Amino acid sequence: MSVPKIVILGAGYGGLMTAKGLQKELNYNEAEVTLVNQNSYHYITTKLHEPAAGTAHHDHARIAIEDVINTKKIKFIRDRVTSINLQQKEVQLEKGDEPLKYDYLVIGLGSAPETFGIKGLLENALFIRNIDSVRMIREHIEYMFARYPSEKKEELITIVVGGAGFTGIEYVGELVDRMPELCREYDIPLEKVRIVNIEAAPTVLPGFDKELVDYAVKYLESKGVEFLISTPIEECTQDGVIVKGGKEIKASTVVWTGGVRGNKLVEDSGIETMRGRVKVDEFLRAPGYDNVFVLGDSSLVFNEDGERPYPPTAQIATQQGQCLGKNLAALIRGGEMKPFKYEPKGTVASLGRKEAIGVVGNKKMAGGMAAFMKKVIDLRWLFLLGGVSLVLRKGKL
Ligand code: FAD
Ligand code: NAD
Repeated sequence: MSVPKIVILGAGYGGLMTAKGLQKELNYNEAEVTLVNQNSYHYITTKLHEPAAGTAHHDHARIAIEDVINTKKIKFIRDRVTSINLQQKEVQLEKGDEPLKYDYLVIGLGSAPETFGIKGLLENALFIRNIDSVRMIREHIEYMFARYPSEKKEELITIVVGGAGFTGIEYVGELVDRMPELCREYDIPLEKVRIVNIEAAPTVLPGFDKELVDYAVKYLESKGVEFLISTPIEECTQDGVIVKGGKEIKASTVVWTGGVRGNKLVEDSGIETMRGRVKVDEFLRAPGYDNVFVLGDSSLVFNEDGERPYPPTAQIATQQGQCLGKNLAALIRGGEMKPFKYEPKGTVASLGRKEAIGVVGNKKMAGGMAAFMKKVIDLRWLFLLGGVSLVLRKGKL
């Protein structure tokens, strides 16, 4: 007798949690569950700013999928999804000759950089996206620093970070930690290095608690970071960026952290999207498709009064995956699904290794305490994925 085929696309926070849930809930003969991911590893997106600055090796931000999934229960295919055909209920993979058939599809393919059509960004900027991209950023910066002592051009040691949302601020915090060591290595006076964080909105971290924002700005400025607020970047060139009003800031390194949109494969599949993200129903289903679930950065979930979408975070993706694992198990057993209800626990953003800002529950925190909390949150993800043994192997306090 054939069993239902569940295909999960993407081993990010949402996809992996769904797979782990199904692995726990289902018996061997209840469903055929397949997880597809383009790499043999899961990357811990929430830590990618560290290897991008060079404060941690990129291996700290990745985990082999086969170390956290029982491959006797979940079939793992390492391949790149190239298209999704919702009418035929199949997924095309780059290397696979035959399309992959499904009865239920889970799309957890994450995000892509939102460039708002800004001229030259895709060609000239670098992006904190995955292991390959952060390795490139680190090596690029090191090469520019290596050239400086002989060429003496200031732009070689000027780093522009475009966008002061959480990714931009966390990245700038890591850069600040890295600079003393990097300058020593390349014989560059630390005070000559420029880190310029450019933000279109009238404040950094728009929408976040003002007192904590002020704390972050004061701390980062004390370490030499220059903030340009109310200053939209309008073009990125090989020489740097041009901001509104036409002023040019010369920089050999431009890292774009100006926001994300859903993975393009999702809108290409014909599902209705907003900035590439699918407004899912209470069971995380795509509109018009009872057997297609979307989660994580490719999904859009509105708050209870329906006015604002929740920001795309690992936190919501993880909770969606946990809910979906249980719901899919119920569904194939003919049971009832439970609506997804997001429970925000708070937000903590690092400002390098020893500093952070955050709100957890109703409690605001800044400094060492917040930095410790951030590490605890990182450890929790390792625990959810691989229990105590993964925490001991990969965790860092
Ligand atoms: P992802 O985790 O991005 O996973 C998507 C997976 O799909 C990846 O494994 C990818 O390789 C795979 N994939 C993509 N395309 C294909 C394809 N074509 N074929 C096969 N596989 C494919 N959120 C928080 O809640 N807290 C934080 O502290 C936090 N810090 C962050 C720090 C940084 C530097 C960044 C960039 C983001 C941070 N976020 C944080 C946001 C968070 O990382 C994302 O919201 C989260 O990763 C989304 O999870 P996801 O499962 O949707 O996708
Ligand atoms: P974001 O959309 O939150 O921030 C992007 C920033 O770039 C905004 O402040 C925006 O005003 C600015 N911007 C846009 N266009 C610009 C332009 N032309 N010139 C200058 N600035 C411009 O994106 P993000 O920071 O990449 O975060 C993505 C998601 O990941 C968010 O949901 C965020 O909450 C989450 N995240 C969370 C954490 C954390 O919890 N510690 C860390 C990183 C990211």
